[in-house]
Amino acid sequence: MKIRTRLTFLFSGITAAILLLLVTAIYISYARDREDDYYKNLRQQAVTKANLLFDAGIDPHVLQLIYRNSSSTLSQEEVAIYDTDLHLLYHDAVDIDKVKETPGMLEKIKQQKEIVFKQDQLQVVGFTYSHQNKTYLITAVAEDEYGLARLRNLGYILAFSYLIAVLCIIIAARFFARKALKPVSDMVDRVEEITATNLDLRVPEGNGTDEMAELAITFNQMLDRLEQSFDAQKQFVSNISHELRTPLTAMMAELEISASRERPAAEYLQSMHHAISDARQLVKLSNSLLDLAKASYDPAEINFKPMRLDELLMEARDEVLKAFPFYRINVNFEEPQEEEDYLSVEGNAYLLKVAFVNLMENGCKFSASHEMGVVVTWFKEYTILRFIDDGVGISKQDLPNIFTPFYRGGNGQYADGNGIGLSLAARIVKLHKGTISVVSKVGQGTTFTVEFTHV
Ligand code: ADP
Repeated sequence: MKIRTRLTFLFSGITAAILLLLVTAIYISYARDREDDYYKNLRQQAVTKANLLFDAGIDPHVLQLIYRNSSSTLSQEEVAIYDTDLHLLYHDAVDIDKVKETPGMLEKIKQQKEIVFKQDQLQVVGFTYSHQNKTYLITAVAEDEYGLARLRNLGYILAFSYLIAVLCIIIAARFFARKALKPVSDMVDRVEEITATNLDLRVPEGNGTDEMAELAITFNQMLDRLEQSFDAQKQFVSNISHELRTPLTAMMAELEISASRERPAAEYLQSMHHAISDARQLVKLSNSLLDLAKASYDPAEINFKPMRLDELLMEARDEVLKAFPFYRINVNFEEPQEEEDYLSVEGNAYLLKVAFVNLMENGCKFSASHEMGVVVTWFKEYTILRFIDDGVGISKQDLPNIFTPFYRGGNGQYADGNGIGLSLAARIVKLHKGTISVVSKVGQGTTFTVEFTHV
């Protein structure tokens, strides 16, 4: 069921129920008042008749005649008077006798002094009446035709008004529910239009102040972020294809030239070497991309274990030296390792090694001496690793961008690369809740500082 329909039902239901309570309360209260008033009225009439008989000395036959000739005997009160020995002294019409006075009823009047009850629509009142030191039992019976007709009328009016009011409430509830949820349906219409090709569309933000506007604003902010990351992905893919194209084109050109005519074996060998070097570049690129993808995972999906940073650093150093035996990497620990725990972090060995390899490789490849150093300083809560070289350095303009994927600085021509290494290292450090920063001076060297908190 739609919220709009549910709201309409809920609102109309609650209001209709409250209204029904109100209408019923009015009806019941009116009905009670009418009944009470009529009992009082009956008693009054009966007393008047008794006084007419006892004091005014009116002939009982006259009173009986009046009773019989009244237009409606139902609404005319029928009075009976008994003495305390239950002997009938007077009766308006014994043959009509709307309600028979039984001895039991008369006894009850005697005991309780006054009783009232209803028999169908007829109301009965019985009471003791003292006159000139004598006590009488008087009963009066009649139907409040006029009052009952008015009560019925009130019932009809209330029922009719209630139905009309409920109808109006349903219409109003539908209208307001639709009005209140209009921003949502506008939003739904707009969201349906949004696809990957028009991520720039935004949902209407309404008056900008209420809850709906808050929802729309939050949704638009989410779209902003999605659009940005979508653009970044597009940029990333185009960077990858560009990076792939360069070695592939070079490889193809090399092979095409050598295949264009018969050549001496030495030339074939040379172009094969070139092709191999281009293929190596491609392999390196695809490995870096794979690592980048791994480092971009949700941390929950990566296997983290406590491990020693010194061991990882030595393994990374060995890996770099295996690929580039002419590099020189000096790893120094600033203080003797008294506490073993000081060097352990919770991490993923493979990824951390990838980060260290990249930082070490950069230090060596951007230095004329192909030499760099790693200095490890540890404290109780954290460990600091500094990757120091005295190479070409990074210019001030390049410094803010070097952690962006595929970005290569102005000194890029100094060494081969694809611009992924540092962004990868930064992501891996971040994944381990560490920090990475850089200080560099052109012509003097560069220092990358990585800080990890202990397990
Ligand atoms: P690549 O090394 O493949 O170019 P990186 O992401 O590792 O890509 O580095 C990005 C850029 O940062 C490099 O192109 C270079 O300009 C600069 N850079 C990184 N490390 C150093 C360093 N140790 N010395 C000088 N420049 C560096």
